[in-house]
Amino acid sequence: MKSGIRHRLVTITVLGVVMSALCLAGLVRVLSVSTASRVERARDAVTEAADRMAKASDATPIDLSSTLIGVRGGVAVDGDAPTALPSPFQAPVADAIRASGAQRERVLVEVKVGDSTVVACAEPAERGGVAWAGYLAKPPTYLVFWRTIVIVLSLAVALLVATALYAIVTVKRSAIALDASMESLATDLTSPVPRPAVRELRDVADGIAELARRLLEARKNEAILNEELARQARLAALGRVVAGVAHEVRNPLASIKLRLDLAAATKSLPENVAKSIVSASSEIDRLDRLVADLLVVAGRAIGPRKSESLGELVKHRVEALAPWAREREVAIGVSGDARAPVDSDSLARAIDNLVRNAVEASPPGEKVEIVVKGEAGTAHLRVEDHGAGVPEARAAELFEPFFTTKPAGMGLGLALSRSIARAHGGDVTYRRAGDATCFEITIDEREGAKSSRAMGPEGHA
Ligand code: ADP
Repeated sequence: MKSGIRHRLVTITVLGVVMSALCLAGLVRVLSVSTASRVERARDAVTEAADRMAKASDATPIDLSSTLIGVRGGVAVDGDAPTALPSPFQAPVADAIRASGAQRERVLVEVKVGDSTVVACAEPAERGGVAWAGYLAKPPTYLVFWRTIVIVLSLAVALLVATALYAIVTVKRSAIALDASMESLATDLTSPVPRPAVRELRDVADGIAELARRLLEARKNEAILNEELARQARLAALGRVVAGVAHEVRNPLASIKLRLDLAAATKSLPENVAKSIVSASSEIDRLDRLVADLLVVAGRAIGPRKSESLGELVKHRVEALAPWAREREVAIGVSGDARAPVDSDSLARAIDNLVRNAVEASPPGEKVEIVVKGEAGTAHLRVEDHGAGVPEARAAELFEPFFTTKPAGMGLGLALSRSIARAHGGDVTYRRAGDATCFEITIDEREGAKSSRAMGPEGHA
């Protein structure tokens, strides 16, 4: 293909040059033949005119226009050349008269004057002196026009050759550059694609560059998807294990709790034993909550939902957490309201997690703001603090189970909150706006979305 274009260009150039050369040669030949025939006719005319004047018996003027219009002639007595002749005629006529007078025979003289030729003939006259005739053979009037054509044609041939050579060189260079870029693209899709000077090849190069860009993008997306799939598979497996373990732990926990409660009811227990039993029982309550959380994160459905005021629910949770927040010198403010069908126990756990995190992240003297509002069928519950926020590099891991940066943290709070929000047809999102850290729970407000959903390990339906 590459050499095909070059060969074709070479063939076109050679054909063009041959045709133009033939035309040029033809034109030059036609011009020279017509000029030569004009001089030939002039020769005949002046010879005839000089002959007629040489044979004339008296000095009566002879009409020379019958030979060729423009022929001049006369008889020079004593070998003197006529003085009233136009300047191109003077030298050739004088030469002819002189030579004929000396040789006593007919003499023809031809002198080139620019593009024209002066033809002069002299012959001894019968009545004495030298009869002479002269004619200025001008080139044909169309000579200038044809000469212009010859020049234009020559320039066109030169231009054709130059253009063809330029095209051959640029096509060859562009093809080599494209070849090289295709080779490097095969191993590295980020390699640059050169833009050839030839427009058609430039379009092809642009197409190749766009193709490489899309391929690169598709590969990146594929890598991200593969990573996400592997993460989902890991989490799903982890979720199954967690669900199994949590289920198995719950029954013995319930049985231990029952026995402890029965033992605590015994009157005769020493005080320190009774205290230990109460503390063990509350620890078991904590463990049971943890197991319940794990089951929600691992995909167990939340409880039944009913329409609730989210503003009221948040106020109750804030009242419960206020003493703890006060100890940390952090205030909590609540504003707004919205109604949505929710499992209030589950949602309260999600709210607690977000508020606890916000208070823990706030420096003393700061305030945590909670704003509730309903918008286009969705309830929004935003918890905002003015702490340092989450390092950019770790933001993607925030909602993964067991991700924590706290020494005593479990890393289940956000994963649990997201599972609960997703079971309510919503989500939990994180964003940093200026110096504020915002976690926002969204919940589907529609009644049709009331039925509780079972969620995957990370809250995926
Ligand atoms: P835990 O609180 O047990 O660490 P979470 O799932 O609730 O588990 O939180 C996970 C991590 O997310 C926290 O360890 C913390 O690094 C980060 N985080 C959560 N909320 C905030 C917040 N408001 N400001 C800064 N970091 C936060």
